Amino acid sequence: MEQYDVIVVGAGNGGLAAASLIAKAGYRTLVLEKHNLPGGCATSFVRGRFEFEAALHELCVEATSEKQDDVRKIFNRLEAEVPLAYEENLFRVICRGENGYDVRLRSGYEAFLDSMEEAVPGCRESVKKYLDLIGELDAAQDHIDEKGINPAVLFKKFPDFLRAASHSADDLMRAIGIPEKAQSILNTYWGYLGAPTDDLNGLHYLSLLAAFIKTPPCMPLHKSHELSVSMVKALQRFGGEIRYNSEVTRFLYDEKGACVGVTANGRDYYAKKIVSNVIPNNVFNRSDERAVPKQAKKLANARRLGMTFVTVYLGLDCTMEELGMDDYSIFITNDPDARRQYEKRLDYGMYVVNCLNKVVPDSSPEGTCTLFFTLPFMPEDMPEDLTPDRYKKWKNDYAARYIRDFEQVLGVDVMSHIEEIAIATPVTFARYLATPGGCIYGYANMGWDNVVSRTALKDTENRIPNLYFCGGHGLRGDGYPSGYITGAMAANDVIRDLKEGK
Ligand SMILES: Cc1cc2nc3c(=O)[nH]c(=O)nc-3n(C[C@H](O)[C@H](O)[C@H](O)COP(=O)(O)OP(=O)(O)OC[C@H]3O[C@@H](n4cnc5c(N)ncnc54)[C@H](O)[C@@H]3O)c2cc1C
Repeated sequence: MEQYDVIVVGAGNGGLAAASLIAKAGYRTLVLEKHNLPGGCATSFVRGRFEFEAALHELCVEATSEKQDDVRKIFNRLEAEVPLAYEENLFRVICRGENGYDVRLRSGYEAFLDSMEEAVPGCRESVKKYLDLIGELDAAQDHIDEKGINPAVLFKKFPDFLRAASHSADDLMRAIGIPEKAQSILNTYWGYLGAPTDDLNGLHYLSLLAAFIKTPPCMPLHKSHELSVSMVKALQRFGGEIRYNSEVTRFLYDEKGACVGVTANGRDYYAKKIVSNVIPNNVFNRSDERAVPKQAKKLANARRLGMTFVTVYLGLDCTMEELGMDDYSIFITNDPDARRQYEKRLDYGMYVVNCLNKVVPDSSPEGTCTLFFTLPFMPEDMPEDLTPDRYKKWKNDYAARYIRDFEQVLGVDVMSHIEEIAIATPVTFARYLATPGGCIYGYANMGWDNVVSRTALKDTENRIPNLYFCGGHGLRGDGYPSGYITGAMAANDVIRDLKEGK
């Protein structure tokens, strides 16, 4: 029997942040990871002479260490910072059709407003009013983090926060009077949160947009793997341990229903506290049914699984200049309306293509470049009659349609330059991450199950004693920052409870 203070299940961003911070506080910590590498989504892989970024399009981390945001603070506390390369343009968005447009938005408050005004003359004041809301929203969030939720106080001090909290992103923009075309352009990032803007909480969306406007998008110089390895090194420096190829198949409970350990590779490991970076559905499926509160099971079953993707990774035998590319992120859509973009997601509704060489020029061998296609998908979109023998053809055809479409929109020749190609689908993500339906965003951030209601109700959730959760399936939704931040939140809770002997 092996005994630890804390066991962390899963070495994704959330698990690694939680484990390293707990180890730093002096507790004997073990991470069990089912894969042979750390990072979960935050990883890379090699095909031929190319190393491909597996997931990250863009990270949002303050450029200067004097003004640290939450993610930089975590890396800083762990002495795990890695060099980042920044990109001044937020994105280019090409919308085809009668009411279409082709615009580039720049990062930075004034530059962003200027680029919006160039795209939609006359929209500057309303967009400014919208962005300026973030000041009050941030202050309200800080207040809640410090003092908890008291509606009467919030109403008095932060009236716009409360007014906005129960509305969708579309409601908020409409109420402020942003012209329709400007709304459509501002809505481009909906895919990063996995829900169309009429169903996505207004505060959540504004926070994402404002973060990218304030801090230019950035990428680690050596792909996400560098971020994950840097966290693992921090964990080990603080005396923590990580075991790979160690899938947790069972969560163990005492007679009072408290979680006391896990089983991996047929061995039992015990600890005072267990942190799960694994989605609750999979924890509950690997637990004694009697240990899981009815309410917790009901909640997991009531939630909709969030977005996943089909992704296409291309290594090309030409430079991005030779290909005719000049942008890092290009969003392509057939329709200016975010709801229809979401509903037509299998038919060019909206997709993104990234060329990492724009941000990190030597991210692929000299004379080459890479393209990364991200095609939105919901777990339920997998064709029901797809059999293993037809899977390869299905995914190749799906990828080819989008490569052809991209060639036509940009007027470039991609096909004849392909040296390496890899295609991932929800099946791939299910295999690597072990998530139901291959979902990569945890639970869908839609309707009643949004960040605001998750935060407001978090203390009423029926919890299993000694078991803590962190990761993209948690209260802050998906994304690298959410993973790291919920990991740090779980670490705080665990350390506090260990200190108080709870
Ligand atoms: C293609 C793609 C593009 C993305 N783009 C962006 C982006 O541009 N910006 C952004 O911020 N976010 C992006 N994301 C989302 C982001 O990557 C995720 O939200 C975030 O990394 C999830 O972190 P997590 O902590 O939930 O852990 P996960 O990455 O889900 O990792 C969980 C870990 O647990 C392990 N595990 C699972 N079951 C077990 C078990 N039983 N026993 C032991 N280990 C187990 C898995 O192997 C995995 O290592 C993208 C994701 C994908 C896939």
